[in-house]
Amino acid sequence: MAKTRSTAGRPHGSRPEMDPPVVEAQPPSACPSCGGTRRSEYWGKHIQDYAGLRPDGRPYRVIVRRRARCLDCGQVRIDKTYED
Ligand SMILES: [Zn+2]
Repeated sequence: MAKTRSTAGRPHGSRPEMDPPVVEAQPPSACPSCGGTRRSEYWGKHIQDYAGLRPDGRPYRVIVRRRARCLDCGQVRIDKTYED
């Protein structure tokens, strides 16, 4: 029997594990744990089609989240940027 619904898809509103902290990647992005700005290459890019205004008032079209690991303490975080 193939599993049909137990692990299919992503449950809405519930997460199986703690997600890394999301930080706004106003350049340079910094680690929420140690404040370091050295990070690994980004991976796991996720684009959310969501338009709005940046904190400085400029409009954006999408929110982009990328995962990165702090090279100083190893903390994984999600850098959030607003892009056109
Ligand atoms: Zn760190």
